[in-house]
Amino acid sequence: MVDVPKVTQLLKQAVDPKRVTDRDFDIVAYSRDLSPARQKMATHIVMPESREEVRGILRVASDNNVPVYIRGGGTSHWDAYLPQEPGILLDMSLMNQILEINDRDLTATIQPNCTWAKLDQELRKKGLTYLCSEAGGPAMTIGGSVMKAGGGPHSTAKFGFHGNQDIITLEMVLPNGDIVETGSAAWPSAGKFKRQCVGPDLAGLFIGAEGILGICTEITLRIRPATDVKERMVAVMKTLDDVIELGHFVNRCVGDEYLQGFYLWVDPNSPETFLVMMDVFGYEREIVDYRKTRILEKIKELGGTLGDRAPADDYYGRILTGLTDIFTAGVWHFFGSGSLRIDDIKFLYRVWREELIEKRGYKKAGFGGQVLPRDWLAFMVTNYREPAEWEEIIRISDEINEIVLNGPVAPYGIGGRDGLRPFLEKRDTGYYRLLKTIKKAVDPKDILQRGIFVRKEDLI
Ligand SMILES: Cc1cc2nc3c(=O)[nH]c(=O)nc-3n(C[C@H](O)[C@H](O)[C@H](O)COP(=O)(O)OP(=O)(O)OC[C@H]3O[C@@H](n4cnc5c(N)ncnc54)[C@H](O)[C@@H]3O)c2cc1C
Repeated sequence: MVDVPKVTQLLKQAVDPKRVTDRDFDIVAYSRDLSPARQKMATHIVMPESREEVRGILRVASDNNVPVYIRGGGTSHWDAYLPQEPGILLDMSLMNQILEINDRDLTATIQPNCTWAKLDQELRKKGLTYLCSEAGGPAMTIGGSVMKAGGGPHSTAKFGFHGNQDIITLEMVLPNGDIVETGSAAWPSAGKFKRQCVGPDLAGLFIGAEGILGICTEITLRIRPATDVKERMVAVMKTLDDVIELGHFVNRCVGDEYLQGFYLWVDPNSPETFLVMMDVFGYEREIVDYRKTRILEKIKELGGTLGDRAPADDYYGRILTGLTDIFTAGVWHFFGSGSLRIDDIKFLYRVWREELIEKRGYKKAGFGGQVLPRDWLAFMVTNYREPAEWEEIIRISDEINEIVLNGPVAPYGIGGRDGLRPFLEKRDTGYYRLLKTIKKAVDPKDILQRGIFVRKEDLI
């Protein structure tokens, strides 16, 4: 049991009292995420402004054995920050500053809750860019992206997952209050310019760990000159095999150097229509035109037809400015999503069509995939509004996840008990054992994100 009045008093000594609340009406407002995860109540909401305040909060939490949960922009949808048991929820919103834009070394240093939208806006004033790869809207923060290693339909075919590959250095506050700087920043007299330095890639340890090993308080990442030449192609392919062939073609013959995005969408009402959207960006018109021509020739050779690009332009044009219509469509829920090899997309498509649509009669979920070459991040996704649908959706998605995660699909975005954690914790693999060992060493009292990614009982 958390001694709420005592912890409130201590937290108010660690941060400005105006930024600490234990009032129920504040707490209820933070009790849900964008998924169907059950409502979960924190004991306190605290808004730190600096890494020193983060340390102070962790000290109070550790001394009183109260778990701490971390909310960035709150746009994740897999029970990734909701308190799995009563504890302090950090709202990181105030740590949102751009600390440096270095246009010589092409790096930017930011606080974790700087949004991709804010960084891109500032960079463009200098002829630079960071158009985020993810599609979660203007509230997505860079810290949230990095802590769960995000990436999406835009630009990742060339640059990789921006929440991973573009990260140079991190500053992390550990549960014991220690501050860790990774990469070249571990050598403070050198500066923040290189990821792999001074021994193992410690940034890689924290990226994707969903906050269970430390709280991120600063990030340095790669930026790049804004590209002037952009082309978008939308094609309808006749079969999934054609999509795969097109994918291999752009991978091998055109090269990921020029293709930045490759996105597949199949509507449940038209499961034989394979819509593919591709983006080519570049600095020279001749090169972009050449690549575009080769892709168009291949689409024609495979018997595909060019589609209307207006809906894609509309969606991608608004990623960093507003996607209100998407949110008004209801709660998002994914069935069987994850990473898989290019050819294995056929497996996921078959599960979607046969198991979800035909066998279980769930006809509202679409099928999509993004990121190519090398692999897909693919998913089946639905929106729903009626609370009565909840039980059925959860039951079906558990069944689908069981099939998919026993197949060639690696899970992505683990979260807590209403996320994918129950599917991970059953596996007694070397990976999971090592993760638990590291967690125990770094966070012996299991203060950070207790019950997320790793089950509390497994750490005892
Ligand atoms: C419409 C829609 C489309 C989306 N499309 C994509 C997509 O294409 N690709 C994709 O990857 N995701 C996508 N997402 C999911 C989501 O937008 C991204 O995962 C985003 O990066 C999350 O950022 P956030 O700031 O909202 O993080 P949050 O949801 O607040 O947090 C994400 C995780 O990071 C942890 N965390 C946050 N800040 C810190 C910190 N400072 N220190 C330690 N841990 C921290 C949280 O505890 C949580 O585990 C989509 C979401 C929506 C709603």
